[in-house]
Amino acid sequence: MEGQTASTLTVGVPRETAPGERRVAMTPDTVKRLTATGVSVRVESGAGLASGHNDDAYVAAGATIVPDAQQIYESQVVIKVQKPDADEAARLRPGSTLIALLQPMTNLDLMRDFAARNITSFSMDAIPRTTRAQSMDVLSSQATVAGYKAVLMAADTLPRFFPMLTTAAGSIVPAKVLVVGAGVAGLQAIATARRLGAVVEAYDTRPVVKEQVESLGAKFVDIPVDTSDAQTAGGYAKEVSAETLRKQQEVLADHAAKSDVVITTAAVPGRPAPRLISKETVERMRPGSVIVDLAAETGGNVELTKAGETVEHNGVVILGQLNLPSAMPVHASQMYAKNIQNLLDLLVKGGTLDPDYEDEIVKGTVITRGGEIVHEMTKQRLAEAGAAPSPAQNLVSAPQGEQDQASSQESAETRVEGSGQGIDSSNGSDAASALPAGAVAGDGSPDCPADYPIKGNATSAIFHEPESNSYGRTVPEICFNSVEAAEAAGFRASRA
Ligand code: NAD
Repeated sequence: MEGQTASTLTVGVPRETAPGERRVAMTPDTVKRLTATGVSVRVESGAGLASGHNDDAYVAAGATIVPDAQQIYESQVVIKVQKPDADEAARLRPGSTLIALLQPMTNLDLMRDFAARNITSFSMDAIPRTTRAQSMDVLSSQATVAGYKAVLMAADTLPRFFPMLTTAAGSIVPAKVLVVGAGVAGLQAIATARRLGAVVEAYDTRPVVKEQVESLGAKFVDIPVDTSDAQTAGGYAKEVSAETLRKQQEVLADHAAKSDVVITTAAVPGRPAPRLISKETVERMRPGSVIVDLAAETGGNVELTKAGETVEHNGVVILGQLNLPSAMPVHASQMYAKNIQNLLDLLVKGGTLDPDYEDEIVKGTVITRGGEIVHEMTKQRLAEAGAAPSPAQNLVSAPQGEQDQASSQESAETRVEGSGQGIDSSNGSDAASALPAGAVAGDGSPDCPADYPIKGNATSAIFHEPESNSYGRTVPEICFNSVEAAEAAGFRASRA
């Protein structure tokens, strides 16, 4: 549907149907901006109700309200919050475009289906986490909501005040809050708990956050472990060693035992959440204490967490509620919709869907296109799962220019792509023998060995140097010991 004229591009916004989902993908404000460019926007009746917007507000913004989802899914571009369920996915038309939180690496079948039916999909959770893409970063915007809400839930459940009070009925000591993981959600949790008057301490494996924690008025918990390898060159957390984890658990146990509230947000991109609070630690906490485990979705930081449930153990309440942003749908939707609007500014020009697939943000966010899965990390996950990306059954041919580009990349691709790690010889012989000089195969983790620091992406034949913006979010299929080795193998430098 790319290349439509301004007056014909249709965008559909369905009502979210996932259980408990109260957000909407576009608010009237963002619809207004789109309709002003000549795009026709259809909104399913009632789509915005749970997030504070009635049908009239969308009509005033220039949208057409349609009574059922069918017409929405006939739009050229469908914009959602959650990934479509099987019925919704089946309604998407071949050749159309979908933008949603698709979590492509854990929804491989859905991605295969999109590719097979030539649906172009963009996943909001794949937006590169670069400075330029910050205004589209839904992981950050929704984590902000989650961090704030986690504190409010804890305060509501805690049978004590948060602030210090001096009253005629005596003095009240402030609540002690421990925040584990000081990323976007953790920092917001610290700020919120401080505003409520709690005494806050926080811990993170990335040493750089100490200053941020302290600037919010919290105390940083120092754990004497080697954190020199706790983060990737891109600034993201790495899995720590078993010994480091054991020491963290030990020190955190002492701090948790003295806390009224523990909020855990520790996560490692693409990996299960680290287990930081054991059952024994919970048993050392005072009855009436509260834990909110924001990592519940990826396995939980707390041994006793049950995803989506509230558990009580020895008087300690552990909240494992999922999808906290949906519990604050007005601002979560406002922020999500703004992220969408900023992405649409890149994708829609003059009322026409016209993405520049060479743009780093577009390239990082598009998952399926032209009948193929094109997202590197998803392809890698598919390879790990033992299945190659399935070619489309009913393709609309890629434009000639793209076909030319694809064939010109073929030599580099066949040199390094194909095996479980994306590295193989074209005739299927020993993978190592196919490696160019000065290269080793990626091991499926986001990192290259220290002496092979250049990350290579086999399909695009692009390499990423540690200084590049794209380095942190690249999971290498191949690692080179030097730029020269990468160039000799036919790879080009990333422009990001
Ligand atoms: P996240 O949700 O993946 O992880 C949350 C936190 O858990 C991280 O701070 C991580 O270091 C921490 N953690 C992991 N293992 C731990 C352990 N064993 N013990 C204690 N803590 C542990 O991360 P996030 O909040 O999405 O992002 C992390 C950081 O990335 C941000 O603080 C920011 O510096 C950076 N970031 C940059 C951009 C950008 O440039 N556009 C956008 C978003 C985030």
